Order: sequence, then C-alpha cells, then structure tokens
Amino acid sequence: MTRLLTALSCVCLALLASGEFAATQGAQGAARQAPQAAWPPVLAAPAAGEVQVLPVQGNVHVIVGAGANITVQAGDDGIMLVDTGLASMSGKVLAAMKTISTRPLRYIVNTTEFDDHVGGNAAIADTGEIIPFREANYTAGPQGALDVTKASVVAYYTMFHRLAAPTGKTPRIPEAGWPDNTFSIEQKRLSFNNEPVVIMHRPSNTDGNSIVLFRKSDVVSVGDLLDLTRYPVIDTAGGGGIAAFVESLNRLIDVTVPAAHAAGGTLVVAGHGRIADHAEVVYYRDMMTIVRDRVQDMIKKGMTLAQVKAARPTRDYDKRYGAATGSWTTDMFVEAVYQSLKEIS
Ligand SMILES: [Zn+2]
Repeated sequence: MTRLLTALSCVCLALLASGEFAATQGAQGAARQAPQAAWPPVLAAPAAGEVQVLPVQGNVHVIVGAGANITVQAGDDGIMLVDTGLASMSGKVLAAMKTISTRPLRYIVNTTEFDDHVGGNAAIADTGEIIPFREANYTAGPQGALDVTKASVVAYYTMFHRLAAPTGKTPRIPEAGWPDNTFSIEQKRLSFNNEPVVIMHRPSNTDGNSIVLFRKSDVVSVGDLLDLTRYPVIDTAGGGGIAAFVESLNRLIDVTVPAAHAAGGTLVVAGHGRIADHAEVVYYRDMMTIVRDRVQDMIKKGMTLAQVKAARPTRDYDKRYGAATGSWTTDMFVEAVYQSLKEIS
C-alpha cells in the first residue's frame, strides 16, 4: 500500500511538473511575442516625498526615498545609520528609523559629502546619544570632551574639511552634523550590536569616500561607489576619478562573497538604486573598466575631449546608465572620466 501511494504521488508530481513546464513554456512564448521592455524596468519606488523601509539581511535594513539610500543597523546597543539623506526628509527618516528600533541612535557613518548623503546629519545626529565613556554619576568631571547628547558622526577626515568651516564662515552643513569621529588610515573598526563593523576608506567620486561592511549580517553599504540609476557622478574637483573608482570596485568585489550559482550571498546597499549582489558589482566594475580603458586609449592617441565624446566610448552601456538630460548626463560623465585620466597621464 505504501509502495502504491508512493508510486501514485510520483505520478502526481510528474504531472504537476509537466504542468508547470507547460505553463512556463507558454509564458516564455508570450514574452517572445511582446515588444521588448524598456530598460531600466519600472520599479515600485515610494511616492515622491515618501520613504520606505526594506529589510536587507541580518541586522540591516535600508530606508529608501530620502535622497541617497540610508542603511540602518540596529540591535541592543542602539542604532547605526550609514548616511542621512536630504535635510528636507529628516522628519520622515526619523519616523522610519523608529519603526525599525526604538533604541538610541549612536552612530552615523557618512560615505560621501554630497547633500543627499549628509543633509540630514545635524537634525538626525541631534536626536541620538553616544555610548557614554563613563558612568553617569562619574564625579571627576564631564564625560570626555564630546557632547554626549548627540550621535557620533564617523567619516574619513577629508570630509570634515569639506563640511565644516571656521568661525565666521558658512559651513556646508550645521555644526551638529559635522564629523566628530574621523579617521585617516585605511580602515576604522567598531564592534556594535555584537557585530564587527569595518569602515573602509575607498575613494571613488571624491577622495574621501567610505564603505561600511557589516561582517555578521553579510551586508556592505557602499554609497556612491555603486549607483545603479545612472553613470556615477565623479567630482574631479573633490579628488574623484575613474581610476580610483575601478580600484575601489575591485576591492569591494574582494569582500562580496556570492552564494550558490553566483547569486545572493553578501548583499550590497548601493548609494542609489536597488540592493545588489556580487554579480551586479562585477558587471558595474566591468563597465567602468571598459570605459576607463577606451578613454585612456583615446587620450594616448592624442584625441581631444570633443573627439572622445564624438567617439561615444560608453555607447553600449548608454541604454542602461545613460541620460541625455538631467543633473548628470552621459556627456558630463565622459568629460569627468577624460579629465580624471588626463590628470594622471
Ligand atoms: Zn549619491
């Protein structure tokens, strides 16, 4: 009887399997007849002016819609944010953060100096509190030199110089948002929420970018090193360049470990666009390497910027990343690539 049941269930499974196969074939047939979908695919993004919280994996979430993506790591020690979005969105970011955890905000790490990454620093840092160095009833004096009633802002030291200003001059952001916990070596390490957090200096579109690896959650938050919505902005005046980009993308690939069939594994929170994995970073690295090599060759041949633009060194990627209008066009990207290579050639 058992054997008969087994045999019957095998038949059923086989039928189910063949049914599924037929359905899949049908869907593929329909897809073949349909006109090719435009790139990029339409994604369900939050409405303009609204934010959305998405789980990434482990202790890490992401808040999207407030400018650059904001990474949130939360646990018993409190909350760490990577970037803070636009200043105008701080109220919504704080409300979204509290849906993830009601523990105190302890750290903000900044990946880059642009307004859509650091705009919320002051308002958001002000709601937090650093982890006290000493007991609250310590009688010998204040708790160190730091203001304990705000979150600590961690960034590569060059960012401090760009965001802050001496007395009497107007800084890029209010003082409460300035980095107060800077580093000038290759990486800074913290243990937070029982997780090793490695903040690595990886210059890309400026000389002061960082990426943040959450080692236990297996998530890396990379700021503008990965922009899946367009060609990356390169601020050549701020020390950014395509050579640094390619180098830092290669270093990012070193710490992203794919799971089965090269999918999943370490997840990568891009500065802009969807959550990515190893394969997506490799594709992006290849694109940046190919564009760098083409433009480098054209410079070696003595071609002018106008000639390089006319030769369209990005042409096979334009459908995916290019833009003819807006704040960062393909033309501007090619020009930044040319200028940054010209400086080092
Ligand atoms: Zn950005």
